[in-house]
Amino acid sequence: AFALTGCSSERGGDTGADGGDEAAAGFAADATIGVALPDKTSENWVLAGQLFTDGLKKAGFKADVQYAPASNTVAEQQNQIQAMVTGGAKVIIIGAKDGKQLATQVEAARDAGVAVIAYDRLIENTEAVDYYVAFDNFEVGKLQGQALLDGLAERAGHEAPYNIELFSGSPDDANSAVFFNGAMEVLQPKIDDGTLKVVSGQTEIAQTATEGWKAENAQRRMDSILTSTYSSEALDGVLSPNDTLARAIITSVQGAGKDVPVVTGQDSEVESVKSIMEGIQYSTINKDTTLLVEQSIKMVGQLQKGEEVDVNDEEQYDNGVKVVPAFLLPPVIVTKENAAEAYANVPSLLEIVKSYQ
Ligand code: BGC
Repeated sequence: AFALTGCSSERGGDTGADGGDEAAAGFAADATIGVALPDKTSENWVLAGQLFTDGLKKAGFKADVQYAPASNTVAEQQNQIQAMVTGGAKVIIIGAKDGKQLATQVEAARDAGVAVIAYDRLIENTEAVDYYVAFDNFEVGKLQGQALLDGLAERAGHEAPYNIELFSGSPDDANSAVFFNGAMEVLQPKIDDGTLKVVSGQTEIAQTATEGWKAENAQRRMDSILTSTYSSEALDGVLSPNDTLARAIITSVQGAGKDVPVVTGQDSEVESVKSIMEGIQYSTINKDTTLLVEQSIKMVGQLQKGEEVDVNDEEQYDNGVKVVPAFLLPPVIVTKENAAEAYANVPSLLEIVKSYQ
């Protein structure tokens, strides 16, 4: 069995045998590694596919990298994972389209002795997920909440109370609630003390959700809130969970002829980095995809050699039936002010930042 570094987490015992312990120790150094990614809802997913293809090859493996296409994605991803198992992959790395709908496929993987790594998004309600590798999603949310507060103090041009609206990601992505809860840990006390006013009254996660992480859905919701609630009021800030949605929200507000509020983001997408440098979008998050892919490939290498797999969190990611041992990387908040520093190791973004300075 390959080693789970200490099964000492409080909940570790609840579930009986750990799925991961049944996978074989070590496998051929040129084995096939499957990578199943979701649809391309943000630039990070596009980049990840390319980095996995190149990085796995460089490490000596055969790479089988697949995306779930934008239509019928859940069934497509289920089929792709099943085909990877049948095709003899030794590890399958999964960026879930819908983390609640992969239990059958990852259990088939486990039964075939294949290790499963959940990449960026957790796979829920199954013991057959061995590891999770991601940026610290709760911290992402906290940073977004804090950026919204900082941005309001800097830019709103008046004292509190500030009028804000809240957006969250797709309900089929386990990350969406974690981002939102992280942000609300910072924002809720300020809503309670009257500093922030969610004028639409839509503060429940279900009310704020953006189906499929699709820009048009965020834009439509912002349009409708502006019409129903902001005909005479000013909108000071919007919590947006990522850059794609941030730009859709900004487009909506501009279309309504209103001043652009403080809008947060995530992913450091090129168009958003430009927008931040132009003083429009307020913030984004740097989750360097290169580092996340590197960490995942490192895990694959450890599994290949039958070594202990590095994890640094064995508490946070309870998927409903087990606490999944995780390796979490630290996200970094980016505003116009610290952009050059934040992207010091990301040449393509640093170049954009410098072109504005
Ligand atoms: C990722 C985010 C991304 C979103 C939409 C999430 O699971 O963690 O970085 O913005 O999916 O693609």
